[in-house]
Amino acid sequence: MYKYKEVADFTYVLSLDNHVEICEALSEFCKEKEIYAGVVNGLGAICEATFRFLDPATKQYVDKTFSEQMEITNLTGNISRKPDDPHTPYLHIHITASRRDYSCVGGHLLRARINGACELVVQDFWEATLDRYFDPQTGLNLYKL
Ligand code: FE
Repeated sequence: MYKYKEVADFTYVLSLDNHVEICEALSEFCKEKEIYAGVVNGLGAICEATFRFLDPATKQYVDKTFSEQMEITNLTGNISRKPDDPHTPYLHIHITASRRDYSCVGGHLLRARINGACELVVQDFWEATLDRYFDPQTGLNLYKL
């Protein structure tokens, strides 16, 4: 699903395989390297992506899928641990992608299929743990700091 190189201590450059789903591949990488606290950034090209919007008034999620070729102009996210599952990396990723007409769409990333390439940098906050808890006021899994 990916190739990677450790370019500095606990800092990895990844090239994801064409046609893989970004969150799935990144989750696999975090499991392989046992990364449960860190950050990720990247760019690439995708042909299908689903974004999520949380309406703060209703606390309802609105998901939308875009099926078209797009450039990832920015992907940024963090890695922590699931509240109820300490061995599953919890990815929180936001993305902006540009279309053929150069307009952009973006949001909270649920899934994105690569069509071309996807290059990521992952920084592992080595030996740190970052857990989350569910906050009923916002409806979000927030950092437990
Ligand atoms: Fe989000």
